[in-house]
Amino acid sequence: MSDRLIDVMADKATAESHKREREVARVAKMAAGCEAALLDSLAEVERLSGELVALDGRTCTGREYWRDKDIAGKEAKLYVNHSIDQVCPLHGTPEPGKRIRQYVGTDLSAIREAKEAIEREGTRRRLESELAKITRGLRRCEYQLQEFYGLLGFEVQEDGTAVRRGGGRW
Ligand SMILES: [Zn+2]
Repeated sequence: MSDRLIDVMADKATAESHKREREVARVAKMAAGCEAALLDSLAEVERLSGELVALDGRTCTGREYWRDKDIAGKEAKLYVNHSIDQVCPLHGTPEPGKRIRQYVGTDLSAIREAKEAIEREGTRRRLESELAKITRGLRRCEYQLQEFYGLLGFEVQEDGTAVRRGGGRW
Protein backbone atom coordinates (compact mmCIF):
# COMPACT_ATOMS: atom_id res chain seq x y z
CA MET A 1 0.00 0.00 0.00
CA SER A 2 1.59 3.28 -1.12
CA ASP A 3 1.82 6.45 0.96
CA ARG A 4 0.19 8.19 -1.99
CA LEU A 5 -2.92 6.05 -1.70
CA ILE A 6 -3.10 6.66 2.04
CA ASP A 7 -2.73 10.43 1.44
CA VAL A 8 -5.37 10.41 -1.27
CA MET A 9 -7.71 8.47 0.94
CA ALA A 10 -6.99 10.63 3.97
CA ASP A 11 -7.43 13.86 1.97
CA LYS A 12 -10.64 12.64 0.47
CA ALA A 13 -11.94 11.65 3.86
CA THR A 14 -11.20 15.10 5.30
CA ALA A 15 -12.61 16.97 2.34
CA GLU A 16 -15.82 15.06 2.13
CA SER A 17 -16.14 14.14 5.78
CA HIS A 18 -17.47 10.92 4.49
CA LYS A 19 -17.68 8.09 7.01
CA ARG A 20 -17.03 5.27 4.58
CA GLU A 21 -13.97 6.88 3.09
CA ARG A 22 -12.57 7.65 6.50
CA GLU A 23 -12.97 4.00 7.28
CA VAL A 24 -11.23 2.98 4.07
CA ALA A 25 -8.39 5.41 4.83
CA ARG A 26 -8.04 3.78 8.22
CA VAL A 27 -7.97 0.30 6.68
CA ALA A 28 -5.38 1.49 4.16
CA LYS A 29 -3.21 2.88 6.93
CA MET A 30 -3.48 -0.33 8.94
CA ALA A 31 -2.63 -2.42 5.88
CA ALA A 32 0.35 -0.17 5.08
CA GLY A 33 1.72 -0.73 8.57
CA CYS A 34 1.57 -4.53 8.28
CA GLU A 35 5.01 -4.97 6.78
CA ALA A 36 6.72 -2.81 9.40
CA ALA A 37 4.91 -4.66 12.20
CA LEU A 38 5.92 -8.01 10.70
CA LEU A 39 9.54 -6.96 10.33
CA ASP A 40 9.51 -5.71 13.91
CA SER A 41 8.16 -9.06 15.12
CA LEU A 42 10.77 -10.93 13.10
CA ALA A 43 13.50 -8.75 14.62
CA GLU A 44 12.12 -9.67 18.03
CA VAL A 45 12.25 -13.37 17.07
CA GLU A 46 15.89 -12.89 16.04
CA ARG A 47 16.72 -11.12 19.30
CA LEU A 48 15.05 -13.78 21.47
CA SER A 49 16.65 -16.61 19.47
CA GLY A 50 20.06 -14.94 19.88
CA GLU A 51 19.60 -14.67 23.64
CA LEU A 52 18.54 -18.32 23.79
CA VAL A 53 21.62 -19.44 21.84
CA ALA A 54 23.78 -17.46 24.26
CA LEU A 55 22.26 -19.46 27.14
CA ASP A 56 22.88 -22.83 25.45
CA GLY A 57 24.54 -25.29 27.82
CA ARG A 58 24.78 -22.67 30.59
CA THR A 59 21.49 -23.23 32.37
CA CYS A 60 20.71 -25.61 35.20
CA THR A 61 17.33 -27.30 35.62
CA GLY A 62 18.04 -28.26 39.24
CA ARG A 63 17.06 -26.75 42.58
CA GLU A 64 19.17 -25.61 45.49
CA TYR A 65 19.41 -28.01 48.38
CA TRP A 66 21.35 -27.02 51.49
CA ARG A 67 22.83 -29.38 54.06
CA ASP A 68 24.00 -28.44 57.52
CA LYS A 69 22.38 -25.06 57.24
CA ASP A 70 21.85 -23.36 60.60
CA ILE A 71 23.76 -26.12 62.36
CA ALA A 72 26.24 -24.80 64.89
CA GLY A 73 29.85 -25.58 64.08
CA LYS A 74 29.04 -26.76 60.56
CA GLU A 75 29.34 -24.98 57.28
CA ALA A 76 26.30 -24.96 55.03
CA LYS A 77 26.89 -27.03 51.89
CA LEU A 78 25.04 -26.53 48.65
CA TYR A 79 23.82 -29.35 46.46
CA VAL A 80 21.91 -28.91 43.25
CA ASN A 81 19.21 -31.55 43.01
CA HIS A 82 17.43 -32.40 39.80
CA SER A 83 14.19 -34.31 39.32
CA ILE A 84 14.17 -37.98 38.31
CA ASP A 85 15.16 -38.37 34.64
CA GLN A 86 15.64 -34.60 34.44
CA VAL A 87 18.22 -33.63 31.86
CA CYS A 88 20.34 -30.63 32.78
CA PRO A 89 22.15 -28.65 30.07
CA LEU A 90 24.94 -27.99 32.56
CA HIS A 91 25.08 -31.25 34.53
CA GLY A 92 24.09 -33.76 31.87
CA THR A 93 21.71 -36.69 31.61
CA PRO A 94 21.01 -39.01 34.56
CA GLU A 95 20.91 -42.80 34.39
CA PRO A 96 17.38 -43.94 33.51
CA GLY A 97 15.13 -43.63 36.58
CA LYS A 98 17.81 -41.71 38.48
CA ARG A 99 18.38 -38.07 39.33
CA ILE A 100 21.46 -35.89 39.19
CA ARG A 101 22.58 -34.68 42.58
CA GLN A 102 25.39 -32.21 42.11
CA TYR A 103 27.60 -31.31 45.05
CA VAL A 104 28.61 -27.64 45.01
CA GLY A 105 29.90 -27.30 48.55
CA THR A 106 30.90 -24.21 50.47
CA ASP A 107 33.00 -22.26 48.00
CA LEU A 108 31.32 -18.90 47.53
CA SER A 109 32.15 -18.46 43.88
CA ALA A 110 31.01 -22.02 43.10
CA ILE A 111 27.76 -21.31 44.97
CA ARG A 112 27.26 -18.08 43.04
CA GLU A 113 27.86 -19.88 39.74
CA ALA A 114 25.35 -22.59 40.63
CA LYS A 115 22.72 -20.03 41.62
CA GLU A 116 23.30 -18.06 38.42
CA ALA A 117 22.91 -21.18 36.28
CA ILE A 118 19.57 -21.93 37.98
CA GLU A 119 18.47 -18.32 37.40
CA ARG A 120 19.50 -18.59 33.75
CA GLU A 121 17.14 -21.56 33.39
CA GLY A 122 14.31 -19.28 34.52
CA THR A 123 15.41 -16.71 31.95
CA ARG A 124 15.59 -19.40 29.27
CA ARG A 125 12.02 -20.50 30.00
CA ARG A 126 10.77 -16.91 29.89
CA LEU A 127 12.51 -16.29 26.55
CA GLU A 128 11.12 -19.53 25.09
CA SER A 129 7.62 -18.63 26.17
CA GLU A 130 7.96 -15.13 24.63
CA LEU A 131 9.27 -16.70 21.44
CA ALA A 132 6.41 -19.22 21.34
CA LYS A 133 3.90 -16.40 21.85
CA ILE A 134 5.25 -14.42 18.87
CA THR A 135 5.40 -17.58 16.72
CA ARG A 136 1.77 -18.36 17.57
CA GLY A 137 0.88 -14.76 16.74
CA LEU A 138 2.60 -14.96 13.37
CA ARG A 139 0.73 -18.18 12.57
CA ARG A 140 -2.55 -16.51 13.45
CA CYS A 141 -1.58 -13.63 11.17
CA GLU A 142 -1.61 -16.00 8.23
CA TYR A 143 -5.17 -16.94 8.99
CA GLN A 144 -6.21 -13.33 9.64
CA LEU A 145 -4.62 -12.10 6.40
CA GLN A 146 -6.43 -14.81 4.45
CA GLU A 147 -9.61 -13.52 6.08
CA PHE A 148 -8.66 -9.97 5.10
CA TYR A 149 -8.21 -10.92 1.46
CA GLY A 150 -11.26 -13.15 1.54
CA LEU A 151 -13.40 -10.21 2.70
CA LEU A 152 -12.18 -8.21 -0.28
CA GLY A 153 -12.98 -11.06 -2.67
CA PHE A 154 -9.43 -12.30 -3.11
CA GLU A 155 -7.92 -15.72 -2.77
CA VAL A 156 -4.45 -16.30 -1.41
CA GLN A 157 -2.33 -18.67 -3.46
CA GLU A 158 0.25 -21.12 -2.14
CA ASP A 159 3.09 -18.59 -2.49
CA GLY A 160 1.13 -15.87 -0.65
CA THR A 161 0.01 -13.93 -3.73
CA ALA A 162 -3.56 -12.69 -3.51
CA VAL A 163 -5.66 -12.93 -6.68
CA ARG A 164 -9.19 -11.83 -7.28
CA ARG A 165 -11.54 -14.77 -6.85
CA GLY A 166 -12.95 -15.98 -10.17
CA GLY A 167 -11.03 -13.26 -12.01
CA GLY A 168 -14.09 -11.01 -11.88
CA ARG A 169 -14.16 -7.23 -11.89
CA TRP A 170 -13.32 -5.24 -8.78
ZN1 LIG B 1 21.97 -28.75 36.73
